[in-house]
Amino acid sequence: MLRVLRSVWYGRRQIMDPIIAVVGATGTGKSKLAVDLACRFNGEIINGDAMQMYRGLPIITNQIPVEERNGIPHHLLSCVGFEEEAWRIGHFKQEALRLIDDIRSRGKIPVLVGGTHYYTQAVLFKDSLVGEGKEPEDLDAPESMEASTGVTSTSEKWPILDAAPEVMMEKLREVDPAMAARWHPKDGRKIRRSLEIYFTTGRPASEIYAEQKASKSDALVKEEGLLRFKDTMIFWVHAEKETLDTRLASRVDTMIEQGLMEEAQTMSDYLKNKQLEGIEVDQTRGVWVSIGFKEMAPYFAALDNAESSESELEKLKAACIEQIRIATRQYGVSQVKWIRNKLWRALSEAGMIRRLYLLDSTDVSKWKQCITDPSEQLYQIMLQGEPTPDPKSLSSLANEVFGAKEAKARTQSTDTTCHFCEICQRTMAGEEQYKNHLISKYHKGAIKSAARKAERDAYFQKRELEAKQQSDGANTPEQ
Ligand SMILES: [Zn+2]
Repeated sequence: MLRVLRSVWYGRRQIMDPIIAVVGATGTGKSKLAVDLACRFNGEIINGDAMQMYRGLPIITNQIPVEERNGIPHHLLSCVGFEEEAWRIGHFKQEALRLIDDIRSRGKIPVLVGGTHYYTQAVLFKDSLVGEGKEPEDLDAPESMEASTGVTSTSEKWPILDAAPEVMMEKLREVDPAMAARWHPKDGRKIRRSLEIYFTTGRPASEIYAEQKASKSDALVKEEGLLRFKDTMIFWVHAEKETLDTRLASRVDTMIEQGLMEEAQTMSDYLKNKQLEGIEVDQTRGVWVSIGFKEMAPYFAALDNAESSESELEKLKAACIEQIRIATRQYGVSQVKWIRNKLWRALSEAGMIRRLYLLDSTDVSKWKQCITDPSEQLYQIMLQGEPTPDPKSLSSLANEVFGAKEAKARTQSTDTTCHFCEICQRTMAGEEQYKNHLISKYHKGAIKSAARKAERDAYFQKRELEAKQQSDGANTPEQ
């Protein structure tokens, strides 16, 4: 009995690795929900916002004030200086994973919160298997190569990469037939990419992909999908568009009241001092691109020049603040887009869309009812190992957003994987086309003739075998 209990306990231990993530646009109250959940479930918070990692800019980066943290430890907040670059994804992932282990070793629950959603996604998902449009990790910056227009360094070196798809396809069939079979002959972008990998690494892309897949596919990975932690629960704090826009606009006013200008001034002074020291600071990256500073930069420059009149300065200041409003709104839109597209797609690929719950924060006065209570219940349902409810069922906003996602996924099958029919030796783009092909007259005819051919082959094979046996028998000496 004891032994049984122990094995059950071990079994449970192995699969219990709960983690909570809170995502959403800036100004929706992510940090507040994270604190609520950490208080309720004995958690510690890991900040997943690249800009909030900078020290000395609590207002510009919208950090949660200490008095609202309820004594909950917040990791990776205010931990880097102005002179440092924002952390690369790999660096963040490594540090966050280390902290997750550390938090768990103290019997606590990690709560990951932040608006830099690619940080969050890198922590929550295992490195995705290399598939269509995704790149092997050991190849450098292929995205940027594709994104750049015109002549790239690779096509300068290998002019065939600029050739027509058919020409590239011919070459690909020669050097990497397995990849050639995967792509539609007209899909120049994918054909080009496979060739590019072959040229730059000297190895067929199919070989590299197969290797990566083999190294990652132990039984556990397959069973649990692509989520790094089986018990992952993601809360998306969202609001209706109008509400969100108004909130973001008023957030900028609040920031100004709280001291945005003073923080921006500090940053501007830092730059000036560096300039005096003869150090040129790259303002296209790091903390210098944070919303609230870069928009104010022209104002501080004019202030220094001392050539503008008082009223001109005021006008400029107002224009800069308007720019902050615009940038904030755009940032919010891009954050939501990330969740709707990349995060949702990753979850649906992992078969885990029931782990992303939209919580409607449109009416802040119903925070407990609409945000805290449902999030606590959902997390508990997951912990008990029970099936979690349909995310659409939570609110009308959730129904609207997820319903649209699901409908879209159903109708315009986003699947563009190429299927190759061995029998007809034909390539089809997408599941839909492939299905249609399988029921087509052409394919059925091909099956029939293939069957006839197989029959013929079997007949001749049998005859050959019989003939061989006869001649073997004739040659075997009697014992
Ligand atoms: Zn076929």
